[in-house]
Amino acid sequence: MSWLGIVICSAVLAVVIWEGAKHLRYRTRRRWKTVGGAFPFMYDSTDPIDEDKLISNVDMAYASLLTQGPWNRRQLWAAFTRARIFVATHEAWDQVVCTMKTGETPTVIAVGKSMSSLCHEMAHLAEALIDGAVDLQHLGWARRGIAGATGTYERTRRL
Ligand SMILES: [Zn+2]
Repeated sequence: MSWLGIVICSAVLAVVIWEGAKHLRYRTRRRWKTVGGAFPFMYDSTDPIDEDKLISNVDMAYASLLTQGPWNRRQLWAAFTRARIFVATHEAWDQVVCTMKTGETPTVIAVGKSMSSLCHEMAHLAEALIDGAVDLQHLGWARRGIAGATGTYERTRRL
């Protein structure tokens, strides 16, 4: 194997280990708590958070995706009642991807305390659970109304 091959393999391995560790951290060290507004979902956070604010923002993201996005109420309900939302202290735009690599059903999303990425990550979760594929480059987001929905959420979310 060439030195370049070794470098590439090491980099791939490092990413796999990193993603695996991230996955374990979300799945095993968390105390998921079920709450709900429009629908029940689970969350955990690094620091204590304003639970009402989280529920309001989840409801807002759901309403935006329902009215502007490509999915119906039944589909979103089925997807979002499986959601585990992790609220990190730092800004996070972390996705379901970390759990998809292991072959498990992706249900974890991570957002920052500002919750600005919440609707975006919920849209990726809907893609993963409803469409069966995540559009990481957001190529179809404008056409499917998802970009409009995340825009609405970002303007109207509770601060
Ligand atoms: Zn994205």
